[in-house]
Amino acid sequence: PTETLIDMIEGSTRRFGASVALDFFGGTMTYAQLGDEISRVANGLRRLGVKPGDRVALVLPNCPQHIVAFYAVLRLGAIVVEHNPLYTERELRHQFEDHGASVAIVWDKVYSMVRGFPRDMGLHTVVAVDVTRSMPLATRLALRLPIPKSRTARAALTVAQPLKDAIEWSALVGSRRLRTAHPRPLLGDTAVLQYTSGTTGSPKGAILTHFNLQANAQQSEAWVPGLERGNEVFYGVLPMFHAYGLTLCLTVAMSIGARLVLFPKFDEGLVLNAVKRTPPTFLPAVPPIYDRLVKAAAKKNISLRGTKYAISGAMSLPLTTVELWESATGGLLVEGYGMTECSPIAVGNPMGPSRRPGTVGVPFPSTEIRVVDPEDPAVDRGFDEEGELLIRGPQVFSGYWDRPTETAQTLLPDGWLRTGDIVTVSSDGFVTIVDRIKELIITGGFNVSPSEVEAALLSHPDVADAAVVGLKSAHGGEDVVAAVVLIAGATLDVAGLREYCRTRISAYKVPRNIVEVDDLPRSLIGKVLRRTVRDNLEASTE
Ligand code: ATP
Ligand code: MG
Repeated sequence: PTETLIDMIEGSTRRFGASVALDFFGGTMTYAQLGDEISRVANGLRRLGVKPGDRVALVLPNCPQHIVAFYAVLRLGAIVVEHNPLYTERELRHQFEDHGASVAIVWDKVYSMVRGFPRDMGLHTVVAVDVTRSMPLATRLALRLPIPKSRTARAALTVAQPLKDAIEWSALVGSRRLRTAHPRPLLGDTAVLQYTSGTTGSPKGAILTHFNLQANAQQSEAWVPGLERGNEVFYGVLPMFHAYGLTLCLTVAMSIGARLVLFPKFDEGLVLNAVKRTPPTFLPAVPPIYDRLVKAAAKKNISLRGTKYAISGAMSLPLTTVELWESATGGLLVEGYGMTECSPIAVGNPMGPSRRPGTVGVPFPSTEIRVVDPEDPAVDRGFDEEGELLIRGPQVFSGYWDRPTETAQTLLPDGWLRTGDIVTVSSDGFVTIVDRIKELIITGGFNVSPSEVEAALLSHPDVADAAVVGLKSAHGGEDVVAAVVLIAGATLDVAGLREYCRTRISAYKVPRNIVEVDDLPRSLIGKVLRRTVRDNLEASTE
């Protein structure tokens, strides 16, 4: 890439001026208006003292202000730090301590929480965003949000703001336009600190530059060659505070002049209401979302035809989901693979007949991969041999914020990123994900892949969901243990289920114990949190 994210968004706001950029429950903002709002908010932030290199925290669900704030911060050469607005006080405070943002722009639901963070963290101003103020009544009801008693609600907000340095969003927007002379960010500048999901440990802040994010936006655009500039309808159901939603919605959609329909959270009813109004042409999501949408659409007799493109990532995509979605839409659903550290996408299935379901596809343009011995990354593995995936390319990050040790463990000196994922690569370059190294179970000297055991369990008609983990064994090493959710009406038969597994996988992989649970813990994007499953099982056996 030769342009920063700011060059890109300014180009789009000029080129697509009169087209709708953002659609929030039917309320719309054109590209020209978006450009104007970005300048005004950038100026508001400048007056709050935001300087190049400063971190500005966003704690927002998907909403128009999220996009405006994102580009306004970047315009000043400052760094956006995205956060999950549903995080607990402890989780959020931990991240704020880590990055030391001076200004935070937050959802009003978490306003008082953030405002209470200790002063010595460097945070001096908190901007509260009433995301829902512009929502129609029906939407509030659908989202189970409190109905605003407008004046009282605002009064309550004022009472909750005894600090003179706490302001409302409208105060930012009201400011004068940015002086054009304000210095612009450079391609190599850090644009975003993006925390990893925290699936295997505590979240780490990945440093992503304008160059990284623009590279991944261009690679993603090239992935879907049929995309028409100025003519697509993107559905923003993925959270934009996660790397996947960030790149697809905040950068790709904006760069091709799409209409971005924003959803503050995934809800079948809300999405289908929007489908009746403006159906999507492109819907990036995760497998559970596709399943739920197809089912709900069939029930309500709403057509999903016209959704040409769908891409799935973050977790493995079941073949049944592909079949359901493609027959409901007449479009394509292909799987890709990535991680926060790759801005985030590195591998994707071709968007066409040569895609290979069950694999995550081939490396993106300008992206190199290797498969190596996880014990010694200098040793390469052959085709179809399991090993750790290494990635090198323009989208690969330059390190974790303030974590030199983890950075050195993850980024090899010659630019290769260690993914921590075990994969195989076929001789024609298709990548298949096996498991994460950290989640492999070591039992009696053998490695057991939890995904393989889960697949065996899931093929049993009584099993609705399964997570397999290693628990410390009395004889050293780990025991394979499964937590399963059964379909309604079924009862757990441990011996029977183990017997069933034995017909599908080697004896040493069969779970030593199987425990029934009501539900599996998942991350906000829908990944099963095996680490939490393991902690829960450990706690219950102590
Ligand atoms: P943390 O690094 O904090 O433990 P995380 O790795 O889950 O969390 P992300 O960067 O959001 O954080 O996720 C990247 C990981 O998601 C990859 O390393 C891989 O394990 C998994 N993943 C991504 N795409 C796929 C896919 N298509 N199939 C299976 N797993 C995938
Ligand atoms: Mg990770």
